[in-house]
Amino acid sequence: MVVVDYELRKKVMDAHIHDALKYCYQCARCTDVCPVAKVTDQRYNPRPVIMNSFLGLNTFMGEKDNFSLWGCTICDTCDEVCPQKIELTEIFTVLKNMSIARGEGPDYYTTQASTIYDTGKAIPMQPAIERRRKDLGLPVIEPPDADEVKKLLNETKLNKILKK
Ligand code: SF4
Ligand code: SF4
Repeated sequence: MVVVDYELRKKVMDAHIHDALKYCYQCARCTDVCPVAKVTDQRYNPRPVIMNSFLGLNTFMGEKDNFSLWGCTICDTCDEVCPQKIELTEIFTVLKNMSIARGEGPDYYTTQASTIYDTGKAIPMQPAIERRRKDLGLPVIEPPDADEVKKLLNETKLNKILKK
């Protein structure tokens, strides 16, 4: 049985700036140009994500690391070509935020976010890189103020989301 997720539908409709979502006529131009759809033989496909989010059919949440949602790399190519000027990537961002808030985000996202939370950097500096920079005469990179970064991220409630 298909259940309509009204919270999802409302969030998507509220977030869509130009109210154009309802004018999607499923032409599949977004799918045609999507590089991820191309290399995955449409295992990831933006067109049904748009259709189902408009209808409130939650077919891409409820499971961890759902590729039919997280496959999108937010390259914006589909936004460029949509004849109805639908901002698809805005909608995908809303859906991904909901997925994270429900504790269903992929581990590679939460691991990366935890690294930034703990160290203030996405990729901590490696001693080998530091040595190489020194050999090349490049300046020392000062570490970020991790406490300051943590304070800012706490304002976004990231710490609570990461615990899920
Ligand atoms: S390109 Fe635009 S109108 Fe066409 S299916 Fe995709 S979202 Fe809908
Ligand atoms: S933004 Fe996402 S859906 Fe759109 S073309 Fe890029 S990867 Fe595909």
